[in-house]
Parts: sequence; C-alpha cells; structure tokens
Amino acid sequence: LSEKLQSALGKLKGKGKLSEKDVDLAMREVRLALLEADVNFKVVKDFIKNVKERAIGSEVMESLTPGQYVIKIVNEELTKLMGESQAKLTFASSPPTVILMSGLQGAGKTTTAGKLALHLKKQNKRPLLVACDVYRPAAIKQLEVVGERVEVPVFSMGDKLSPVDIAKASIEHGKKHGNDVIIIDTAGRLHIDEDLMNEIVNIHDAVNPKEVLLVLDAMTGQDAVNVADTFNQRLGITGVILTKLDGDARGGAALSLRAVTNKPIKFVGMGEKLDDLEPFYPDRMASRILGMGDVLSLIEKAQSSIDEKKALELEKKIRSAQFTFDDFLEQLEQMKNLGPLDQFLGMIPGVNAKALKGLDVNDKDLARLEAIIKSMTKKERENPDIIDSSRRKRIANGSGTNVQDVNKLLKQFKETKKMMRKFTDMEKTMKKKGKFG
Ligand code: GDP
Ligand code: MG
Repeated sequence: LSEKLQSALGKLKGKGKLSEKDVDLAMREVRLALLEADVNFKVVKDFIKNVKERAIGSEVMESLTPGQYVIKIVNEELTKLMGESQAKLTFASSPPTVILMSGLQGAGKTTTAGKLALHLKKQNKRPLLVACDVYRPAAIKQLEVVGERVEVPVFSMGDKLSPVDIAKASIEHGKKHGNDVIIIDTAGRLHIDEDLMNEIVNIHDAVNPKEVLLVLDAMTGQDAVNVADTFNQRLGITGVILTKLDGDARGGAALSLRAVTNKPIKFVGMGEKLDDLEPFYPDRMASRILGMGDVLSLIEKAQSSIDEKKALELEKKIRSAQFTFDDFLEQLEQMKNLGPLDQFLGMIPGVNAKALKGLDVNDKDLARLEAIIKSMTKKERENPDIIDSSRRKRIANGSGTNVQDVNKLLKQFKETKKMMRKFTDMEKTMKKKGKFG
C-alpha cells in the first residue's frame, strides 16, 4: 500500500499550485491503492471524497509544498478514519471488571488474553484468566501455559461443565480471591456458526462484561471487517484487538474497521510473544500506512516545540561537529517540551527505540544534568574531550554529584551527538527526495 500511495502522491511533487485536475489524478491512484489493500469500498469512496474536498477547497499553507500538503491531508483523514485518539480499556466502577474475549478460531484470542493479562499486571491489576473453551482438547492447557508464563492465575473447571456455568463460577472465584479483572477466553469459531454464536451471547448475558473485545486477524483483511460487523451486531462489542499486524503490511482492515463498526481498535498484536501487545494509535498507524514511520508526528512535534531558527543553527553545529555542552544544555531545555528523549528519537524511522533505553531523561535527571554541565568550565563545555579524570572529579564535586554521574553524562552526550547526526542525515535524504522541507 505505502509504495503505491507514495508514488501517487509523488506525482504532485514540484507543482506550484494544486489544481482540481492534479488532485483528481492523485486521488484516483490513492483510491486504487486503498482498494488493493483490501479497504472497504464504501470507506474508500468517502475517504477520497473528504480528501478531495479539503485539498481543492483550501489554500496550500505557505510552509508546505502542494505535495506535502496533500500528504498532510491524506494522513489526517486516514487518522480520522481510525478514530483519532487512542482508545483505552474501561474498568468497572466496582471491581471485578469482566473482559469477554471473542472471535474466530485462530484469530489469537487465547494468546491475546495472556498478553492482556500481562499488560494489566504491569498496571498493578490482579487479573484472572478463565478457560471457557471446552471444545478444543488442548485449549484449557494452552491457556494454563500462557497463564504460567505471565504469572497470572487461570481458572478452569475442565470440559464437562457448560461455558456459561464456568464463566459464572469464575466471577465468584475472582471476587473471593481479590482479582479485579477477569478475562474470559472463549471457544473459537471457524466461521460464523449459530450454535457458538448463541453460546457466547449466553456467556455475555450471564456475566455482563464491561469490555467485549473482538480479536481479529489482520491478515484476513476485508473478511475481518465482515466478521466484526456480525459480532458487533450480535454481541455489541466494545472494541477490537487486531492481531498479527507484524505480518500484515497492508493495514486495510485497520482502515475499515472503525468506519464499519464504529468501534475502536484498542490494541494491536505485534508478534507471538506475550509482551507483543501495543496500544493502538490511529495517527501512528496512518503514518505507517503512508510509509513514513512516524515522521509526520515527529516533524509536527519538532516544529511546535523547537524554535525553527535555533533548530537550524543546531543542525549546522551538529553537521560541523561543533555541538557543545552549551548546545546540549539548551537541547535538554527543549527536550522538556518534547517529552522523553527516547520517545522522541524512537519516532525516527530506523532508530530502534529499545536501543535508546540508556538515553532516558526525566525531569529529575534533567536537573542533575544541568548542574553537572554548569559545573564545567567554558573550555570543557566546548571541547569535552579534555575532560580527564581529575576534571571529572572536580565537576562531580562542584555539582554535588559523583564521578559516575559525570561519566554517564559524557557518554550520553556522545550518544546524543551520534543520534542527532543520524536525524539530520535522515532529514537531508528526505529533502532530497522532495517529501519534506
Ligand atoms: P485462538 O484460537 O483465537 O485462541 O488463537 P490463538 O491464541 O491460539 O493463536 C493462534 C495463533 O496465532 C498462534 O500460533 C499464536 O501464536 C498466533 N498469534 C496470535 N497473535 C499473534 C500476533 O500478534 N502476531 C503473530 N505473528 N502471531 C500471533
Ligand atoms: Mg483459543
């Protein structure tokens, strides 16, 4: 999808003004690209209409080229399609919160139940997993293994009782054992099957869940959207978890789901491991579909937080390797407005957020870093290479920190310099390609 979109949008490059014909032409290709990605026909139609109206009707902002402007609109409309903001789980006002997992067989219900349990545990919840799939022989065992891995208790009563009875009993059990979230794993359906559909409706009515989550396999594209439509009508879902997004580059399902069911995607599954669950961010997904990593939000964030002139100066300094501790200090100040440094850098395509763990800067660290830098002489700030061990000791004493802190900062400074260089390199390449700038 992204390649197609890029090429369609690329055709607008270099045009001085956006005529109706230009937009029409580009939108024809965007339309094809979306249909090819298995986006619902009606959704595509509305989408194109919206983008066209906005693109033709409004003036291109001075700071953007027409091509960038259309990218901006396409991106915004894609985001809108998927629900704008990140949808969170709702919890019952008096615990336990019951979460009912539903979906077709193989969609990832059992795995996702475990992922969700782990996610909740990290938020200091005390989840209980409930085995209500009594049909597949190994289903109970599978949930037990998952529960063991995430260290969450699993409630099961074998395969002799009805799922409705097991679900009811699990609520009592959970209350007694202080579980504040009860996650009910249910039997899969190969396709929409009346008996099983009735069964999950019965479980639903027996336990009155706060969340009815539909687990959908992103790889199934448009089928997933049809399944969502049916489950939503029969069961009244509260949200969707889209799994196997690690294997689906097309994203067509994500685009149509919200439009068709009017229910949000709450999480996405990004792999088979139990910590491969991520909140779903519509804006990030839109950018990903556009094939730009999170470049758009990065640029927007940077634009709003960093004084442009200063940024330019900074870039020059980094390029000429004159980036000093004074600049770093200023940079840290601006970082306060940007949010955590690792998050900021993590949005740059090609930069692995996990590799940035050591760069984590919070407000308290920031104050300490400032103190250390302020204890350096002018010479030291301009040329950190001269900071030998005796200077380190002096700086540590002067700033009320210790030598390890100073060492850490020196290392961080080096890393940042490297990162910033990567960042500006990337921007340069993009400018060359004519996408931004
Ligand atoms: P269920 O029948 O709905 O309970 O589905 P399962 O939880 O048993 O999952 C079916 C298969 O999908 C398993 O092999 C899982 O490991 C795999 N799976 C689930 N979620 C993901 C995901 O987000 N990414 C990938 N790659 N595989 C997943
Ligand atoms: Mg299962």
